[in-house]
Amino acid sequence: MPTIEERDLRHIWHPCAQMKDYEELPPMVIDHAKGAWLYDVHGHSYLDIVSSWWANLLGHTNEKINARIKAQLDRLEHVIFANFSHRPAITLAERLAALVPAGLTKFHFNDNGSSAVEAALKMAFQYCQQTGRTGKTRFMCLTESYHGETIGALSVGSMDLFAEMYRPMMMDNIHVEAPDCYRCPYGKTREDCACECFACAERAFAVHGRETAAMIVEPLLQGSAGMRIYPEAYLQKLRALCDAYDVLLITDEIATGFGRTGQLFAAGRAGISPDIMCVSKGLTGGYLPMSITIVQEKIYEAFYADWSAGRAFMHSHTYAGNPLGCAAALAVLDILDEENILEQAAHTAAWLTERMTETFGAHPNVGEIRHIGLIHAVELVEDRAEKRPFDGKRRLGYAIYRRALQHGLLLRPLGDVLYFNPPLNIGRDDLETAIDRMKLSMDEVLGA
Ligand code: PLP
Repeated sequence: MPTIEERDLRHIWHPCAQMKDYEELPPMVIDHAKGAWLYDVHGHSYLDIVSSWWANLLGHTNEKINARIKAQLDRLEHVIFANFSHRPAITLAERLAALVPAGLTKFHFNDNGSSAVEAALKMAFQYCQQTGRTGKTRFMCLTESYHGETIGALSVGSMDLFAEMYRPMMMDNIHVEAPDCYRCPYGKTREDCACECFACAERAFAVHGRETAAMIVEPLLQGSAGMRIYPEAYLQKLRALCDAYDVLLITDEIATGFGRTGQLFAAGRAGISPDIMCVSKGLTGGYLPMSITIVQEKIYEAFYADWSAGRAFMHSHTYAGNPLGCAAALAVLDILDEENILEQAAHTAAWLTERMTETFGAHPNVGEIRHIGLIHAVELVEDRAEKRPFDGKRRLGYAIYRRALQHGLLLRPLGDVLYFNPPLNIGRDDLETAIDRMKLSMDEVLGA
């Protein structure tokens, strides 16, 4: 009889993986989950400190979200969203309209993060074409950015790990040197930074602003790049620069939205409003694949005309506006409100910063501990004084990941950056457990 792991590997090609690695580390087959904990079919438990790809916002199998989905399931599981609608989507759009940054008024539903980004890019392009800005056909993004893995989204990402192979298939976008606050090329620290690196954006706009339809950014936090956190002032300057060059600003809040950076949206934290904003992941509490591309009225208006004008946005995904996803999202908004989640998370975050600093701050291989909201990242380096990274071929982060799994912790690093991005309502006991297990795993791999 094959084991359940063997049955998995016989047919399943897992995402974002070299499947040969599975020879040594077969998949953990999860049977059930509760809060921040996953339980496999053999009775092992894993503390999910990365919220299952940053999606799980309020704990697994959250009773309130479950109840809302179950109730919705018996009324309406799915319906075509062209010409048809339903109460959960209508109510969700109304409620979000009161919460998103000012000026965002229209909600285009899609069914995952990458599709929200694709829609945003196509909208920006078509907006320019339909408002006399026909020379604006290109996009700008930051280096090391990540916006998903469909071809359009990959084209505005610049992480070689994901994109290199597909370059010949991609759009010719403009990649602006991103802020790198840990290894600031201007010799500044987070404390004395005056956004010197913004000069790169200014230069790029001076050369390419006229041909650019939109700039897309992950606001305040370049997650996949290794939880790189940059200042609010950078985003404020970018808003002003986009305005000066008549370039749309798209903020991709797929990872940062719904409280991950301490406020509901990172753009709100920086006090700016984008022209287009993408949300997903935490939107449904990480339960169901749903995303929304939210736009300012002026963008919507540029598409609004008689059919014969050919100005409609001809973009759809089968599961756009899925009622179960909307029901989950409504439950998330209720819980955030009723349980005062953001305020609680802020207290937990302050405490976690202290505990992480006490535990890892003096470690010779810890280059930086950076944090925003509950997200805390530890960048490992070979030489702390010189901030010299370990040789990537050693795959130290991966070795620590494997150790941590043996200790019942799901700590999926980004290269050599270990991080916590837990559900916002995680308790301090669970965080203490995660810190202990991360320390043990690090000590075993790097030496105590
Ligand atoms: N944008 C950002 C900032 C993300 O972090 C992600 C996923 O991690 C995406 C887009 C892509 O979302 P999805 O995986 O749902 O396509």
